[in-house]
Amino acid sequence: MISSHNEPRPSDLGDVRTANRAVVLRHVRRHAPCSRADIAAHTGLNKATVSSLVGELVERRLLRETGLTENRVGRPATMLVLDGAPYAALGMQIGADELVVLATDLAGTRLLTWRRAFAAPSSSPAETVRALAALARRAITRLTGQGRRVLGLSVGVPGLVNADGAVPRATALNWRDVALAADLRAALREPDLAVDVDTDANLAALAEHRHGAYAGAAHLVHLTGGASVGAGIVADGRLLRGARGFAGEVGHLTLDPAGPGCACGRRGCLVAYAGLPAVVGRLLPDTRQDGPVTDFLPEIQRIQALARQDDPTVLAGLADVGCHLGHAASVLANLLNPQAVVVGGHFAALAPWLLPAARTEFAARTHAPAAGGCLLDASTLDSSATALGGATAALAAVESGRLPAA
Ligand SMILES: [Zn+2]
Repeated sequence: MISSHNEPRPSDLGDVRTANRAVVLRHVRRHAPCSRADIAAHTGLNKATVSSLVGELVERRLLRETGLTENRVGRPATMLVLDGAPYAALGMQIGADELVVLATDLAGTRLLTWRRAFAAPSSSPAETVRALAALARRAITRLTGQGRRVLGLSVGVPGLVNADGAVPRATALNWRDVALAADLRAALREPDLAVDVDTDANLAALAEHRHGAYAGAAHLVHLTGGASVGAGIVADGRLLRGARGFAGEVGHLTLDPAGPGCACGRRGCLVAYAGLPAVVGRLLPDTRQDGPVTDFLPEIQRIQALARQDDPTVLAGLADVGCHLGHAASVLANLLNPQAVVVGGHFAALAPWLLPAARTEFAARTHAPAAGGCLLDASTLDSSATALGGATAALAAVESGRLPAA
């Protein structure tokens, strides 16, 4: 299973029953509907153990029985599925011009996706925390009104996040040393709700690994496209975080030391060429006269419209952004040899015009023959991938076999 901050501490891993619950839940998630005998046959757990675990999981409403089906020997067996009704998990993302909250049930079915216009880069961290808490509280009210219990909330931030859920630096938000998880817990005043913070890239990679076109790939990179650019790296089926959690910060990879200035104070960073504000500023120079852009969607739609009309300046600009994207992706492919580098956000929205140049540059700069088998592709998840990954992460404790508090 893919790891997240919510995974059990090592001492819990000695709990065989907890581990076995996780095995049963994982089997049902992947193979539902399935019978107790199917679970025993495919997991190696004996039938009595499966029967006991399933009884407990049905009683705690993590699984439910769904009618009878003839099995191969003709005896009817009670089939099991994940019970979507009693629980929900929330994911949130802080974008360049919006906050998103998304809820899923235990089976991964989306229950709601709400967006609220919010300019986090020009707001204080305290204002952002208040806005996040207000949006989360509305979602919790909606879900509890439907009779569900919200198990957890995970927020994706475009910046560095440490193991405590604090943000030492988020250049795209002008943040330094924001204790986001602690501040959000205090603002929410929901002591039973597990609140966690991760990078937007890590959460988007979780969503990609669970729900995307390359779901289940053991070696996968999701490159976020937004105010910041970051890589969420799945290696050997697990998120690669590094010593302090700061792995994947490719947005500030120097592509050209003589390149354009970056908000981080250096020059020629990937984000200074390919970040959302840089792309809009370059392709739609008239937007600069109106001050900072606070609503990027109409600007992306203008770029798409101009590209469809074969506007030569916009097409050349997109091809150049694509080159830089391909260059950065080749660094990831040379370092990590993933099965795919999947690009999200505005990169996915502009993929028809970015990817041809990006793939050419990517192939030219990746040392292994045929790019080591790595595909450079657009994400099929929508622009709420990070929030979807947040909800996925918030389910990790239950998926790892820990029962929700009674
Ligand atoms: Zn930079």
